[in-house]
Amino acid sequence: MDGTTPSLLIVEDDRSVREMLSAVLAHEGYEVDVHDSAESALRQFDPDQPDQPDLAILDLGLPGLGGVELCERLRRDGYRSPILILTARHEVADRVRGLDAGADDYLVKPFALDELLARVRAMLRRRVRSGIAGTNLLLGDVELDVDTREVRRGGELLDLTKLEFDLLRVLLEASPIVMTRASLHEQVWGFEEDHMSNSLEVFVSQLRKKMEADGGQRLIHTVRGVGYVARTT
Ligand code: CA
Repeated sequence: MDGTTPSLLIVEDDRSVREMLSAVLAHEGYEVDVHDSAESALRQFDPDQPDQPDLAILDLGLPGLGGVELCERLRRDGYRSPILILTARHEVADRVRGLDAGADDYLVKPFALDELLARVRAMLRRRVRSGIAGTNLLLGDVELDVDTREVRRGGELLDLTKLEFDLLRVLLEASPIVMTRASLHEQVWGFEEDHMSNSLEVFVSQLRKKMEADGGQRLIHTVRGVGYVARTT
């Protein structure tokens, strides 16, 4: 990538989908690197190369090494940019495994092109914004490192799950602005509030429990009927 044109890594074995993605995204002005298998993408991916793709779009159902494994391998090899996974409607368990393996978002096939493009833009924007903000987000005695995904409170490392980390990151980035439930769903899970509606409370309560384990003051506050906000008072 030349620093201005975002580069996308695309891995999809279905030829028609692959060609469509490649054509549409290239037409939008992205630099695309297209592969038909995880093995081919991994041969090309060089963890030591600073110019990594700005976004990876991975099909989950791949012959040979699957999309979930590819996602894990990329993360293990130090790939830090967002990963969007493409899944078939019945691959719900794989989708969850994909998110656990380090993917940031998913799209269910068949998807509308407009939705794909909106998702790609949003994911690239999120990445740029965190880059501008620097690698650390600070609030009170909490420090979140965007690059290493480490969160410390009073210097002590907290053991957060991927979703807890993402939730905290979105709240810290927005602080002191109140995040509505809908925008938290959109930014953390990448889709509108629907069947997840009770999960947000559960995640917030788990996150609070971990953050307040050593008697730390409450930083994530509930704004009744609206959503949540991270602030020190
Ligand atoms: Ca496939």
